[in-house]
Parts: sequence; structure tokens; C-alpha cells
Amino acid sequence: MAQPRRPAAITKRTTFLSSCASWLPTAFVVVAAAATATAQNQSPEGFSVDYLDRRADACTDFYQFACGNWLATNPLPADRSRYSRLNELADRNVRIVRTILEDAAFNKSRRSSDEQKIGDAYAACIDQETIEAKGARPIQPLLREIDAVKTREQLIRLAARFSHDGFPSFITLGSAPDPHDSTRFIATIGQGAMGLPDRDLYLKDDDRSKALRREYQAHVQRMFELLALASPKPRSGEGRDAPARLAQRVMDVETAIARATMDRVEFRDPRRRDNPATVTQLAQIAPNIDFRIYLRGTGAPANLLNSVNHLNLLNPTYLRDVSAALETIPLASWKAYMTWRAIDAFAPLLSSRFEQEEFHFYGEILSGQKEMRPRWMRCSDAVAGQPGADALGELVGKIFIQQRFGPDARARMDELITALQHTLRQTLSSVDWMSADTRARALAKLEALNRKIGGPDKWRDFSAVTITRDDYAGNSQRISIDDTQRQLRWIGQPVDRTLWLVTPQTVNAFYAPPLNEVTFPAGILQPPIFDATKDPAVNFGAAGAMIGHEMTHGFDDSGRRFDPKGNLMDWWTPRDDAAFRERASCVASQYSAFESIPGAKLNGSLTLGENVADNGGVRIAYYALMELLSTKGPQPAIDGFTPDQRFFISYAQVWCENASDQDFRRRAQEDVHASGRWRANGVLQNMPEFRKAFGCNDGTPMAPANACRVW
Ligand SMILES: [Zn+2]
Repeated sequence: MAQPRRPAAITKRTTFLSSCASWLPTAFVVVAAAATATAQNQSPEGFSVDYLDRRADACTDFYQFACGNWLATNPLPADRSRYSRLNELADRNVRIVRTILEDAAFNKSRRSSDEQKIGDAYAACIDQETIEAKGARPIQPLLREIDAVKTREQLIRLAARFSHDGFPSFITLGSAPDPHDSTRFIATIGQGAMGLPDRDLYLKDDDRSKALRREYQAHVQRMFELLALASPKPRSGEGRDAPARLAQRVMDVETAIARATMDRVEFRDPRRRDNPATVTQLAQIAPNIDFRIYLRGTGAPANLLNSVNHLNLLNPTYLRDVSAALETIPLASWKAYMTWRAIDAFAPLLSSRFEQEEFHFYGEILSGQKEMRPRWMRCSDAVAGQPGADALGELVGKIFIQQRFGPDARARMDELITALQHTLRQTLSSVDWMSADTRARALAKLEALNRKIGGPDKWRDFSAVTITRDDYAGNSQRISIDDTQRQLRWIGQPVDRTLWLVTPQTVNAFYAPPLNEVTFPAGILQPPIFDATKDPAVNFGAAGAMIGHEMTHGFDDSGRRFDPKGNLMDWWTPRDDAAFRERASCVASQYSAFESIPGAKLNGSLTLGENVADNGGVRIAYYALMELLSTKGPQPAIDGFTPDQRFFISYAQVWCENASDQDFRRRAQEDVHASGRWRANGVLQNMPEFRKAFGCNDGTPMAPANACRVW
């Protein structure tokens, strides 16, 4: 289901992508990929010394020094909760995507079948009159199915129908490489869907959690009220609960789901997500859920029911507890929950009252966004996709690549990756805390690293998906079913190493631990990340640091659990394991002391993998630049800054961001990435090379005594 503006973290579809480490938060790229495309912003596209705040002291707060003038001249737009340099980039992408979609929708007399699909999908989304006229009708067939549920067995069939169509509910199913044989896809059963973005918000008693719970429950109630208004006749013979009662029932079920769900820090540990089980064993873990009925209804391959085939459970405790809750919580509450899941999935597809109410909670209250983005942007997202919901994104991406990404760009990127791989090899060869055995395995893992650049060579086939110009909701459902069934068909099949998990226009970069693979989509390979008109120092500071970050993920606290082939396996000697953990815990406590805004401390354990990747990535990018420059002789200063200084400014400027207080608070709790200020300052505080470049005295904030280093 294409869901404009919905953070992917909320929907909890069990997709392979969710096990990948990304450079930017996937949940928030949703916002980035739909940025305002007005010409409000006349800034140059890439790196610029115009952004500097020259009154700020580089040794006190380098982020302020590098970004100060950008921050002052790019206030948060009303239709965003966050605006960063990467949003500027995404703004340019979304304008390109808009042109592609509008051409296909309105300007071509003869269209290819790809153009018919993306053009009509976009036209159907833009056609608000037809959408308004249909009101809540598109959701009614599903509501009738929910109403008809009378037994627990029927509820399980309903959950299967949700999984078949790609709507998450209290059981979720996906496919991912087998943690112990990464050449083969395996079925993966995940945790349940909740409307609040973090399980802790259901369980904690601080003021923010309590207030958000109240607001959320009021939002659920209002959505049920809207639905009642839109369905004048009772949907079935039995008396219906009042909206307030239904909202309470939803809270009861989601609170039980939250209690059973792993917290974000636990969930990051791949060993905890590795729990093979057969269907027979599932019956013992979750006796109230008949997984034979469930799996048959999802469309997953029938041989999963075979007692020798195993599935992977991300959290067996979740299944045990939810199974128990099926007995203690009344069926009427589960039906209210399923109705709520359906409303939540359909809200962007129904008349604007539903969409506005959804925005009121997720946009205004939760994220501090003042206005909804214009329709065309939301439609761009709905058709061209977003991480976790690619929609028809590959069809758009094919055209995007033709327009924006030539073979020369691929070759330059390939060279950069090779340069970074070389310095990471030197780092792994020289760190003094690893034994020869572990070092040899680390080097073997680096050599086995696979890379993907730009977009796929083999494009996805959408010929089975019917798209019509007058059926926005139906188009979205058909796309969602096609995508879900495609991923379920992978179960039991060999992993296709040419597969792309994201669209080419995506503004992000990825490391997939189960594939030992980095991915850099064409969408990110533009200024300020990559700029062919700029000196190497600028490109190594931005693109180089990004590449280094992704590579280092193979050796962060989570990625290091996987071997060169991507199998979950312990290849560390006990002594090296202890040495790694000691160094990583320095980084964890360092970042736990940082605040994204006053009162919102970062979680050093939650952000550890990303911080290890940031720190390692910038360091190897810096040494790759030094190696390149050593072949060129002394380089002149540009704009008054040496190559070293330009490298660090370029790195820090990638992270300039304005955001609402709500957004900063949310991210401090939910995001595995640190906020922009600390992605810049946290890393540079740890680098003697930075201190030297800017002449920072020991003991200044950017040159503290307690520097940390893992790689
Ligand atoms: Zn990352």
C-alpha cells in the first residue's frame, strides 16, 4: 500500500529492507522524498563557504561554524517537520520525478505500457474530485469482512488476508535471507503493527508519553467517528460500539502488542532476531494462533507447512504473548483493532477528511509539521515510492536513470569506492587491538564486499498490475498485493544477487549485512553528496564519508556478527570481542551525553551502529583523500581553506538541518542515527586530524580529552 507521509517505522511490514543499515533514517526519508519544490531557496546546490557562520568558533561548535548561515537562511518550511541539505537534494529529485509523472499522465499522445501505468496512477491520485465522490467506499468491502468475523479462527484468516494484501496487523510475514544460509530466502515472522511509533510510548509514564497516548486515542476515536458518518447504515445486524469504546479497545490491543514487542535496542541485535522454528514448533509457542490456517491464507509457498522446513521468528516471545492475549482480550477488541489497521492503511486513499485527520495526528501533533504537503508531492510519493513501499518506483526509476545517471557517473563512483576500500583495508591491517586470526577474517570480509551503484540492470516486471485512471485506492491495493506476493514468492528460492531493494531515485545509501553489500542509488549521487565540479576534498568529505560509513557497517556492533557471505556467525576470538566491545562502549557513552535539543538526550546504545559507522567512515575517507593528494603534491587553499579543512567543512555541511522540537524529540527516541549536529561534532571531536586542521587546543569542546575510536 502506498502511504504518503507515513513513517515506515510505524507500519512494521516485515521486509528484507528493514534488516539493512542505512545512511539516513528510512522512516524520515519519506519526508525528504517529497520536499517542497518551490523556488524559495536560492542557495547553491552543493558545498559552499557561504553557509559558514564565521563568527562561530570552529573549536567550540564546528557544526555551527560549518552550517550557521545555512541554518539561518533556510528556516523550517511550514509543510515539513525537518529540513536538511539532503532535503534540498530530494527537492530536486522530486521535481524531476514530477515532470516524468506529469508527462506520462497528461502530455503524451502515445505511451508505452510503463508510461500508461505511472501516468494513470499519478492522474488517479491527482483526481481529488473522484476520490471525494467515493468517500469511504473503497474500504467498505474489507470492513464487511472484518464485521463477519465471529470466531478466533476467522480472525486468524483475516490476519492472513491482511498479510496477503500487504497490510500489517498483529501477525506479519515477510521473506529475508536465511541467517545461516544467506544464499536462500526464508519466511520471516515479525512483530505486530501499532499506531504510535515506539512501543515505549504505550508503556512509559513520563509526560510526553502520556500526552501522546491521550492524543492518539482521541485521533483513533475521531477516525471511527468519520467512518460512522461515512457509513450511515450499521454494517451488520449486531449493535456497534460507539467510537470512544472502539478507540479504547484499540488501545487495549495495541498496548498488549507493545508489551510483547522488543525495544529498539534489543531489536538491533541480530542474534536476538535469529530464531528458527518449524510450523509444528510454532504451534507450541503460540497455541492460539493456527499458523497452518494463517500461512495458507497469506499466499506463501505451501511447502512452508512441511514439518522439515523452518521459518525465522524475529521475536518468539512476541508470538507467545500475543497468542496469550488472544484469550484474555475479547474478540470484539481484536475486531476493533483490525478495523483500525484497515482505516490506517486506507486513510490516504479515502476522502480528504480522513487524510486531514491523519495528518493532524501524525503530522501536526507527533512531528510538529504545520501544513500538509501539496497534493502533487504526496502523489509523487504514492507512485514513485518510498523505502519499504516502492509502489511503481522502478518504472519511474528507469526513466530517472536515463535522464540523470550516465556510465561516467557510475565509473567515478566505482573509483571512489575502490579508494575507500583500500584505506579500510589499511585500517583493518593496522589497528593494534586485533589478533592475527580475527584480522584475517575481517580482511576476507572486506574483500568479499559487493557493490551496487545507480540502479538495477534487470528491471522489475509490473505487467500483472492493472492501473486505471479512476481508481486511486484500487491501484494502491493492487500494487501492494503484487509487491507483497512477489516477496512471499521468494521464500525457499535462491537469493538473486542482482535484486534491488530500493528505487534508483532514493535519497539514501545502504549496507545489507545478510548480503555483505553496499548500495548507492542514483538519487543520492548528486550535490551536495557528489559534485563533479568540486575539488576532491569536498567529494571525499561528503560522498567519501558516506561510502566509508556504509562499508564500516560491516564492522559495527551489529554488522560484525555476520561473516563474508552474510551468514550470522561468530568469527571473533574472545579477546578481540572484548577489545571491540570496550571501544564501542566508549562511543556509546559519549553519544549518550549529547542532546538533540535541550532535554532530549540521544540513546548511545540505539545509535551505536550508526555512530561507529560515521566515525570509521570519515576517518577512512580522510585517509583516502590524503593518499590521493600525496600523488599530486601540495594543493593550494581554495576559498581560504586547505584541503583538510575543506574536507571537514564538506562533511559537516551534509548534516545542516532545521527541525521542529517534536521531530528532534521523536528522533532522539526512535532514530538509530544521531541528529545532524552530533553526526558532525561527535565524529570530529574524536579525530586528531580535525584538531590539527583547525588548530584546536586540547580541552576545547571539539578537542576533548576522552576521544573514542573503534576503526
Ligand atoms: Zn548507516
